[in-house]
Amino acid sequence: ESREIIGRLQEELKKAGCNETVQVLKTGCFGFCEKGPIIKIYPDHVFYVEVKPEDAEEIVKEHILGGKRVERLLYEEPTLGKKIEKQEDISFYHKQMRIALRNCGFINPENIKEYIAEDGYLALGKILTQMTPEEVIQIVKDSGLRGRGGGGFPTGYKWELALRNKNDLKFIICNADEGDPGAFMDRSILEGDPHSVLEAMAIAGYAIGAEKGYIYIRAEYPLAINRLNIAIEQAREYGFLGEKIFNTNFNFDIELKYGAGAFVCGEETALINSVEGGRGEPNAKPPFPAESGLWDKPTCVNNVETFANVPAIILKGAEWFNTIGTEKSKGTKVFALAGKVNNVGLVEVPMGITLREIIYDIGGGIRDQKKFKAVQTGGPSGGCIPEADLDIPIDYESLKEVGSMMGSGGMIVMDEDDCMVNISKFYLEFTEDESCGKCTPCRIGNKRLHETLIKITNGRGTEEDLKVLKDLGGMIKDASLCGLGQSSPNPVLSTMKYFADEYHEHVVNKK
Ligand code: SF4
Repeated sequence: ESREIIGRLQEELKKAGCNETVQVLKTGCFGFCEKGPIIKIYPDHVFYVEVKPEDAEEIVKEHILGGKRVERLLYEEPTLGKKIEKQEDISFYHKQMRIALRNCGFINPENIKEYIAEDGYLALGKILTQMTPEEVIQIVKDSGLRGRGGGGFPTGYKWELALRNKNDLKFIICNADEGDPGAFMDRSILEGDPHSVLEAMAIAGYAIGAEKGYIYIRAEYPLAINRLNIAIEQAREYGFLGEKIFNTNFNFDIELKYGAGAFVCGEETALINSVEGGRGEPNAKPPFPAESGLWDKPTCVNNVETFANVPAIILKGAEWFNTIGTEKSKGTKVFALAGKVNNVGLVEVPMGITLREIIYDIGGGIRDQKKFKAVQTGGPSGGCIPEADLDIPIDYESLKEVGSMMGSGGMIVMDEDDCMVNISKFYLEFTEDESCGKCTPCRIGNKRLHETLIKITNGRGTEEDLKVLKDLGGMIKDASLCGLGQSSPNPVLSTMKYFADEYHEHVVNKK
């Protein structure tokens, strides 16, 4: 629909004779998916929501030529009952802080000049001409940046490990294999600001001594792939990728590798096996990829969002980044807010904000005046958090303490109508399907968990089955080889802990 709107706007501007003076530009995602398609008009900064192709004529006549607002396309704030003209005045954006998404919805991702105008490639120029690899790594370490793909490992330490492992060949891999159902953080960054990831990969390459980078991206992301290909070509043309970057002796180039949609390929060793052309199955660690990764060479694997933070950290400094967030989780996190919430969308918030603030202040509360029941964070293997824990500050440690995890940033809100036993069955079906089958606890254990949940939801379960869920879930967590199996029982175990009555209701009167 957005493409159609662009076409209709261009037609109307041409008819009005102002297509030379007024440009229609494509941007990436504004995050406010609930109200898309969105148009922003400059220099007035007027933010129009839920625009339809047939609105193009009125926008051109009323606004562009007449200088008036098209009132019906302005966002109406439900709590205030009044129309809002500017993006920054909408409550959805009030508590957000955009670092990784800084250029999304603002620049044209297919034009490198717009990225350069926002200080793009300045961080790369700075490190290549003024800093040693050790100094770059020190900044990233001091910033406290941790991996945004789920693990939360400190990025600077990972880079340092790869730097210390001497080898004539090293690699950088960007993990863009976003597999959580309903999550689209990485996709939005790649579609809206691909150069920020390319720049960060080149910075990482310089820091560890790598000349080659791969982006492992889902083949189901055609727009992101297209924009990355355009961005790589443009970066080569402008001398930001290729040989002798910024007239130094540093060479770095990037190639895309396509994933076929296996969830487990988001695990770094499985991803490396897949890039090598093998089966996408995880390996036991150690050795870690930073020691022995792609083709047994030291390899740094970081996800899209982690990379998107790096140029800003280099330019603004570790101290700036360090002041955002909590003691152990610095900076911001992007979440795909979905489920029974009024404002579904992509949000970037400072670490330390509470779940309540995200759901009520940014998300606008629960749909249809229903009561909140639980929020699941961390994708299909995250735990479900009840009302009583909505005021915990969001960081890696707090989410773990309540039986969930940060994961890559999926956040699904459930209301009073959702059955938590059915919810955990749904997620188990997903993890059972996606288990690669390499280790028995995950391959067989998740199958048994799923079968037991089917039995319970069909009304054939007993109290004994609840004990099986708990014991088996704990065993799968402890004995599985990779993160997929180690976290797969989280939805069952957390819902059994917080919503035990619903499980007991399903097995009531059964021996
Ligand atoms: Fe494969 Fe599951 Fe074992 Fe991971 S835990 S290696 S996904 S079988």
